[in-house]
Formats: sequence, C-alpha cells, structure tokens
Amino acid sequence: MTVLDAAAVLADSTIVGSQDCIEQLVFGNDNINDDQSKQQQEDEPERINTEDLFKKTKSDKTKDLKNRYTSTKRGQEIISVILFVVFLGLSSMKMMNWFFIKNIWIFLSSSVLAMFAADFFSGIVHWMADTWGTLDTPLVGNSFIRSFREHHVMPTAMTHHDFIETNGDNCMLTVPVLAFTSFVAVQQTYYDMFLLSFLVNLCFWVMLTNQIHKWSHTYRVPAYVGLMQKYGLILSKRDHAVHHRNPFDKYYCITNGWLNPWLASIGFWKRLEEVITLTTGAIPRADDQAWTS
Ligand SMILES: [Zn+2]
Ligand SMILES: [Zn+2]
Repeated sequence: MTVLDAAAVLADSTIVGSQDCIEQLVFGNDNINDDQSKQQQEDEPERINTEDLFKKTKSDKTKDLKNRYTSTKRGQEIISVILFVVFLGLSSMKMMNWFFIKNIWIFLSSSVLAMFAADFFSGIVHWMADTWGTLDTPLVGNSFIRSFREHHVMPTAMTHHDFIETNGDNCMLTVPVLAFTSFVAVQQTYYDMFLLSFLVNLCFWVMLTNQIHKWSHTYRVPAYVGLMQKYGLILSKRDHAVHHRNPFDKYYCITNGWLNPWLASIGFWKRLEEVITLTTGAIPRADDQAWTS
C-alpha cells in the first residue's frame, strides 16, 4: 500500500466512521422541519443566491442538497433502471444469437474499446457537471448537477445511496442507445456486429460507472471489487482521491480512470475550459467553489 493509498483509506474511514454521527447531527434532530423543507423543494425548488452559499455552513449545505432529492426525481430513476434492464436484455439476446462464441474476438476487442470510450464519456459528463451550471440551470440543475455538488460537499454521502439513487442517472443516459440497439435492423457483417457489441458494452460500462465511483469511496468493498480496483479494471481509490483535492479540476474520468494521467499530461480539461471561457465568459467551477468553500 502506498502513502497515497493509505491517505485515501484513512480519509474515507474517518469520514465513513463519523458519517452516522454527522448525519444524526445534521438530519436527525429536526425531521419535522426537514419534511416541511422537502415538501417545499418538491413544490418549487428554492432559487439559490451564490453569494449566500459562502455564508452557509457545510452541514446546512449538505442538508439543503439532500432535501432537493425529490420524489419526482426518484420516479425518473426507477423508470430508467427498469428500461435499462429491459433494453439491455433485448440487445444482449440479439448479440448472443448472432456470434458470441464463434466471433468472440469481436466481442473482446469491442469491449476494450468500449471501456476506453466509457471512461472518456464519464470524464466529459463529470467535467461538464462539476465545471458549469448551477442548481438553477433549466432541466439538469436540480435533477443532475445537484448530485455532483452534493458529492463534493459530502463525498461519502453517496455510500449511503441505494441502488436506484446510485445508478438511476447513468441508466437514463444509456436508455436511448439501448433502445436503438434493441430494435434496429442490422446485417450479419463484421462491421455491424462490432458496432452492436461496442454500443452494448459502452452502455454496460456507462451504467456501471457510478457504482464503480461509489466503490471508490467505500471503506470495505467485496473481495472481487477490491481485486478489480487493485488491477486497474475499475477506478481505484488512489486515482479518484486525486480528483477530490480542491479545486476538483482534474482526474474526471471515473469508470476505470485509464485516461486520467494522459488527459492530465496534455492539459485537456484546462484547454477546453479556456476555449469555453473565451467564447462565453463563464468562469469554470464558479458554482462548485461556492458550494465547497
Ligand atoms: Zn467531481
Ligand atoms: Zn468521488
């Protein structure tokens, strides 16, 4: 175990160990107020003044972000998980019927490519949500960006999320692609087989990404997960700890993290931010810094 590993484990264990106490302090003593506040958020999410965030305590911010997880959002997540399972099943059956054993090399090569692509996609989505927008951004603010802000304010909160809350958003992202692979008519050519296998594998890894991310914050993981983390098949705790250093501006890829060192070496995210600031005037991570200040 390296020094970085030990630091990541210690930080996680310290926070996880005190998590219940913190949550009791933060959420436990005023359930009535919480329910009222949550109902208000459900009816109409309160707009946020960024300046006010600098005056709020960490526990107030955590409480506010938690209360913004609405039953509407929960419903969307449940539907997304169900659709993911149905479409993944249909697409996988199509793949198996065709070529799985005979053309296993197509499956294996497209799987490796899909793992790289999923890692890059996770980086893009994570970078966009961390760097731009606020909870007031139409469509995605309260439903999507909220969970990224919550994660930076209280990184181990996600270890208490159930399967639906952990994976609902990622399932939603894959549903249009899996619906396409389920119903599109394809030829039995190498090109079509490779493309189908690539897309199905891509969706599989995109869906798993936040579960993998959650494992990277979990103190005790199942043995098979620990092995996958150790051998770099999925994101390791040490790699992800690099991202969680304020100002949270690097190592955005969270599927397996394979692309993180390479993207960091060419300053990929910084250059992308410079282009966007130049064209729009927006300041990277302005909202995230207000929440994490
Ligand atoms: Zn982040
Ligand atoms: Zn994280």
